[in-house]
Amino acid sequence: MARYIGPVCRLCRREGIKLFLKGERCYGDKCSYTRRPYPPGQHGQGRIKLSEYAVRLREKQKVRRIYGVLERQFQRYYFDATRRAGRTGEEMLGLLESRLDNVVHRVGFATTRMEARQVVKHSHILINGKMVNIPSYIVKPGDKISIHERSRKMPSILAAMAAVDKRPMMSWLELDKENFTGTFKAPPVREELNEPSIREQLVVEYYSR
Ligand code: SF4
Repeated sequence: MARYIGPVCRLCRREGIKLFLKGERCYGDKCSYTRRPYPPGQHGQGRIKLSEYAVRLREKQKVRRIYGVLERQFQRYYFDATRRAGRTGEEMLGLLESRLDNVVHRVGFATTRMEARQVVKHSHILINGKMVNIPSYIVKPGDKISIHERSRKMPSILAAMAAVDKRPMMSWLELDKENFTGTFKAPPVREELNEPSIREQLVVEYYSR
């Protein structure tokens, strides 16, 4: 599956919010958005009033970029969510949160989702003891996500796990650091997913226009 390989700090500046796509750098004063908190490009500092359509489009792009998903796949999550019983926006976020690359990042085996994607693709991850190297794999409630034994000394994984104590563990995940194993208890409900910057209703409005 294709992925975005362009400069990521531009994405934060375009969306007007820190998307935390670069790990440690995002927390320091080298963050491009902290230095230049306006959209990239020649007219970035001009004042533009966004239309209603543009507000929804920007919200959709923002969520897509937070989770590192390209348009076609993101649309698929939206349409899958419309077929579920719950609220479409919340179901869509639940699907995005259940992606294996997201879970690997959230549980602390990688500092960013992009890094998590690489960890998965390079076959360092097991689910319930079986190797899975598909970043978009949807993790099921109760699944155990662990680091392959041969990969437990990898510096990038150890560094990510050392940093995990600096951020709170999400309530729907559990990490057993000793055994390099995380548990995905269930997809989060909206209140658990403490992402006030995401306005999923605007994404729903964007696709149902
Ligand atoms: Fe975004 Fe700043 Fe991180 Fe770059 S360093 S990805 S601008 S939060």
